[in-house]
Amino acid sequence: MAYNYDDSNIFARILRGEIPNDTVAENEHALAFRDIAPKTPVHVLVIPKGRYVSFDDFSANAPDAEIAGFMRLCAEVCAKEGVSLDDGNAGFRAITNAGTHGVQEVPHFHLHIMGGRPMGPMIA
Ligand code: 5GP
Repeated sequence: MAYNYDDSNIFARILRGEIPNDTVAENEHALAFRDIAPKTPVHVLVIPKGRYVSFDDFSANAPDAEIAGFMRLCAEVCAKEGVSLDDGNAGFRAITNAGTHGVQEVPHFHLHIMGGRPMGPMIA
């Protein structure tokens, strides 16, 4: 079954350069930028440059090089934002919302990298 990608979503517009963003890091396959309404001191969104609706779409359908590029950019963001455990920091939370039950607002796959303070327990 095909995922239904909407090219008018706000992150597609950011990728096309139609809307400005506060870029943290970028590579051939992915872009990382600050959330416009940060919920934590560190709140960065990492998105693939390809047209993927959600985590399940991306992980099922993206070529290996795109998945690797996306994951490497996540690591770069953690290091740049001072939350990477590699540097002995206190860590971070990485979450993705999918669909209506996941309360996904923007239908272009994105990972939230959040840190800078303790997150508290996971809630449903
Ligand atoms: P979701 O609920 O889809 O996982 O989260 C979407 C996130 O995108 C929200 O945290 C929201 O603040 C952020 N967001 C929505 N519109 C924009 C925008 O135009 N620019 C940026 N940088 N973030 C946005």
